[in-house]
Amino acid sequence: MRLTPDQVSLQARAATLSERLVRQRAAEIDRTGEYPWDIVEALKAEGFLGMTIPKELGGQGRSFLDAVLVIEQMARSCTVTARIVVETNMGAISAIMAYGTEKQRRLAAELVLDGDKPAICITEPGAGSDAASMTTRAEKRGDRYVLNGRKHWITGAGVSCLHLIFARVFDERGEELGIGGFLAIRGEAEGLVVTRREPTMGLCGMPEGELTFTDLEIPPEMVLLPPSGFRRGFADLMNAYNSQRVGAGTVAMGIAAGALEHALAWAKSREQFGRPIGEFQGLQWMLADMQTQLTASRLMLYAAADSHGPNGSPFPDPNLAAQAKIFASEAAIKIVNDALQIFGARGYSRGFPLERMARDVRMFTIGGGTAQILRNLIASRLLGWKLPQTRDGYLR
Ligand SMILES: Cc1cc2nc3c(=O)[nH]c(=O)nc-3n(C[C@H](O)[C@H](O)[C@H](O)COP(=O)(O)OP(=O)(O)OC[C@H]3O[C@@H](n4cnc5c(N)ncnc54)[C@H](O)[C@@H]3O)c2cc1C
Repeated sequence: MRLTPDQVSLQARAATLSERLVRQRAAEIDRTGEYPWDIVEALKAEGFLGMTIPKELGGQGRSFLDAVLVIEQMARSCTVTARIVVETNMGAISAIMAYGTEKQRRLAAELVLDGDKPAICITEPGAGSDAASMTTRAEKRGDRYVLNGRKHWITGAGVSCLHLIFARVFDERGEELGIGGFLAIRGEAEGLVVTRREPTMGLCGMPEGELTFTDLEIPPEMVLLPPSGFRRGFADLMNAYNSQRVGAGTVAMGIAAGALEHALAWAKSREQFGRPIGEFQGLQWMLADMQTQLTASRLMLYAAADSHGPNGSPFPDPNLAAQAKIFASEAAIKIVNDALQIFGARGYSRGFPLERMARDVRMFTIGGGTAQILRNLIASRLLGWKLPQTRDGYLR
C-alpha cells in the first residue's frame, strides 16, 4: 500500500514523538500504573487526539488509516500511549461522530480535543462474549431514561469523563425496545460510580474498572440513537467498534514491531561463542519469520483501516477488521515471545522492555472481541449463515 506524502510526514512526526518522549516514560508508566497525563498533553500538542473528528468540529477530518499510522508508532514504545490514540480517534468517539446529534458531537469533540479518552461500557460480569445478553436497564420515565446496572473491564474507569453506556431499553409500559447507547459525563452524572480497579497483568497505566449505575438519569439530549432506532441500534453501535478493532490490532502490531527492533539490536551486539548471536542461523530464521509475520499483519491492518463496510458504512469492513485483528494479535504474541527468547535471561528481567511487552501484548486476543468470537463472525459471513451460539438458536 502506497502512503501519501502527508501520511509519510504524519508517520515521521509520530515516530519522533514516540522515540524522543514516549519511550523513556513507558517503564515508569508500567511500574506506577498511573495514567500518563503528561503524555496526553504531548499527544494533544501534536494533534494526535481526535484526529478523526471532522474539521468543522475542531478536528482534522483524518482517516482511520492516518490514525493507524500514529498508533503503530506509539505502540513501538508504549502500549498505554498507543491505546490513548486508539480511543480518542476510534470506537466511542467515532460512534458519536456518526450517529450523534449536533450537540452530542460538539460536546464529545470538545472533551476529546481537550484530552479526554472516552470510555465504552458494554461488558458485564454475566455478559462478555455474549454482549447482547447484558442486563443493565434503561427505563423511560417522563422525558428521560433511568439506568441501573453494572459493567466491568471498562477501559479508562476513573480517568475518562465521557462514557458511552450500552443498556437494554424499556418504554414506560415496561416493553423492551432493544439495546441503546447513552452518554454520561463522570462527575456531572450522579449515579455513575467507579467501584473497583482491576489489577491487570499488563497495560498497567491504563485503568480497567467496574462501574455501577444507580438511578443514573440520562436526559433526552444524551441518548445516542442510531438511524435504525433501538431495535437495530445495537448492530449500528457495534459497527462503530470495527474501527476500534483495527486500532487494537494495530497496537499489537506496533508492540511486535518494537520488540523486533530490540531483538535485532540485541542479536547484533550480544556475543556468545566469540561471535554475535545474530550469526547463528537458528536466530536468523526466527528473525526472518518475525519480520514476515509483522509485514503480513501491517498490510492486513492498513487494508482494513482503509476499507468501508457495506451499505455506505463510515466504518471499516467488519470481515476485514476481524481478520486483521485476529491475525495481528496472534502474530504479535508470537513475535514478542520470540524477541524475549533472543534476549535470553535479560528478556525475563524487569530491567529490559521485553517482559513488559509480553504482558501488554497478551491482551489483544481478548479485549474488543476475542479471537474465537471474531472467527465466528468470519465463518458466518463465509458460509452465509447466521450462527447464533445459544443451544436452541442454531438457524441457517
Ligand atoms: C484489557 C481489557 C480491556 C477491556 N476494555 C473493555 C472496555 O473498554 N469496554 C467493554 O465493554 N469491555 C472491555 N473489555 C471486555 C472484553 O470485551 C471482554 O473481556 C471480551 O468480550 C470477552 O468477554 P469475557 O472476558 O467475559 O470472556 P467470556 O465471554 O467468558 O469467554 C471466555 C472464553 O470463551 C470463549 N468463548 C465464549 N463464547 C464462545 C463461542 N461462542 N465460541 C467460541 N469461544 C467462545 C472466549 O473466546 C474466551 O476465550 C476489556 C477486556 C480487557 C481484557
